[in-house]
Amino acid sequence: MDTIERSMTIDRRANRCPHCHKIAVRWEQKMFLGPGRAVSCEYCRQKVGVPLWSVIALVPFLGSIVATLAFQDIYVKGLVFCVGATAMCWIHLKYVPLIKK
Ligand SMILES: [Zn+2]
Repeated sequence: MDTIERSMTIDRRANRCPHCHKIAVRWEQKMFLGPGRAVSCEYCRQKVGVPLWSVIALVPFLGSIVATLAFQDIYVKGLVFCVGATAMCWIHLKYVPLIKK
């Protein structure tokens, strides 16, 4: 198991290259991959990206920002914000597939 495969412990299926079917990017690279951006696969060097609908992953994060307005306690606000940010990361890493760009 190489470094890239070890770093992809969340869900490997959603991080497979559509060209060569190997793990294309590290999880931290995928987190900063939006619909308008493409990166090269670590193996075949073909361009991969995420589909436009991947912005759905932003919903819990944006919802958590709005939800913080309902609370007065700064610790509760921080907790709500962290839950939203974690949900966004989880959805993006687990369910958003890589596509050919
Ligand atoms: Zn590839």
